[in-house]
Amino acid sequence: MSTECEIWTKGTTGGGFSAMKKGGRTVYVRRVLWEARHGPIPEQMTVRSRCGNRLCVNPDHLYLDRPGCLDAPKIDGRFAKKDVDRTDPRAS
Ligand SMILES: [Zn+2]
Repeated sequence: MSTECEIWTKGTTGGGFSAMKKGGRTVYVRRVLWEARHGPIPEQMTVRSRCGNRLCVNPDHLYLDRPGCLDAPKIDGRFAKKDVDRTDPRAS
């Protein structure tokens, strides 16, 4: 990554992710940004940030991944060990 994080300051979800109101619903800002740049997000996919910052909305830091584990647990040490679900999401 070659650019600095852009920290969202306008609102967050209960989980601490960047959020905004759109069409009367609360949506993840990073999902909106991803779709604006790349098109619709495939079903069952989630948008994560490479930098591990939940409030980062720099499109250069975002990537698609499968849901099923916490956001960048290796970077954010708070989620080490017991809080990480190691279940393979493809197994279910
Ligand atoms: Zn970032």
